[in-house]
Amino acid sequence: MIPMGYGNARRFLAKLAGPAAPEGWQGGLPFQYRVGPGPARLRLKVRSERGAGALHPIWNTFGIIRGTTYPDEWVVVGAHRDAWSPGAGDNVSGTVTVLETARAFAALARAALRPARTVVFVTWDAEEWGLMGSTEWVEELEDSVNAHVVAYINEDDVASGTRFAAAASPSLKPLIRDLTHYVPEPGGHGTVYDAWLREGLSDTSALRLDNLGGGSDFAAFTHHLGIPSASVSFGSLNGVYHSMYDSYAWMTRFGDRGYRAHRAVAQLVSLAVARLANAPILPLDCAALGGELAGYVTDLDSNLAARHWSVPTAALLTALTRLAAAGQAFAAARDSALADDLPAVRAAQVNRWLMQVERRLTRPQGLVSRPWNRSLEFASDVDNGYSTMAFPSVNEAIRFADPSTAERELADLVNHVDQAREAIEQATAALR
Ligand SMILES: [Zn+2]
Repeated sequence: MIPMGYGNARRFLAKLAGPAAPEGWQGGLPFQYRVGPGPARLRLKVRSERGAGALHPIWNTFGIIRGTTYPDEWVVVGAHRDAWSPGAGDNVSGTVTVLETARAFAALARAALRPARTVVFVTWDAEEWGLMGSTEWVEELEDSVNAHVVAYINEDDVASGTRFAAAASPSLKPLIRDLTHYVPEPGGHGTVYDAWLREGLSDTSALRLDNLGGGSDFAAFTHHLGIPSASVSFGSLNGVYHSMYDSYAWMTRFGDRGYRAHRAVAQLVSLAVARLANAPILPLDCAALGGELAGYVTDLDSNLAARHWSVPTAALLTALTRLAAAGQAFAAARDSALADDLPAVRAAQVNRWLMQVERRLTRPQGLVSRPWNRSLEFASDVDNGYSTMAFPSVNEAIRFADPSTAERELADLVNHVDQAREAIEQATAALR
């Protein structure tokens, strides 16, 4: 991607003929945007690196605080360190948030308050080139990451405004939503939750968090391995993303004056890491997971109806409803076990099972169209890498007009949901 100023863009765009670009692509310059080809001809000077000259080493950096009680359970918090441009928002903001959280945990450790779980602070390299640093690390250490990582928090372009936005695996949404009550809003006097409510981005009872799409370092954790992940940020409508204007001067004067959004993100992330690292039972909400996924069956139904296929989804809805019920039963059993002082050894067994829940919504062979994507829960949309597709194995079969694959994938999905529910039931049994 090469961001350019409007003055240059105008000279190119104004000389394109051909069909009109779709409505969503029409921009702010005073003429209709067209897609070409021609009639204008351009000469472009490209400087490319080839052969050995095109090879550049990349580095991920790690800081680790070993947990006192559950050292083999790791909470990972990361941000990419490379940038297209000056990158004050994308991604100095994320990098400094990780560093600030690390600083807070280091201060606590020096005061003999180490986290119960191990916390891994990481900055990734070469994200902008295709999520390379995080993907290489997760792939190379797949067995360890699978065995140890309980959750991943991603920080990418987190403070380019004051409007709160977050995306997370459904099992982590209640945790993130809860934490917004404890952090002051960047631009005012209430909490982040108050500001979110005021903006009226959703109804008052359950403020909405997005699902994780693509285009950042959570992909290897959540879409490849099924590890619960989250990302929180403050943003605004601005045009500086991936441009030379994403600079220190812009950030200081316009993006985040006073750096209050930076501070709010650091506080939110530190709280999230603290909860994930210290709660005796991992704060993963399986009832929320089942409930939210059950909601997406309606979308699946309308996608099937649009094709005029009669592929029944009742079994999937039943399986997800049972998973949600198992999640509720687990939560009740967990609360009474915690009231009775659950021993750490038993808690560790419970957590082993909880970690399995979303991992069981993956399969080794991945999606038919994209084998690297092993999650059957969500994938980035094949036609738009930044947006999300729920139940991708089934929805892609619908999109590719393949009814027999859709039916087979639906049965396979039900099977995985049942296995995930069994992990929740095992976790409940381990509490007793
Ligand atoms: Zn970024």
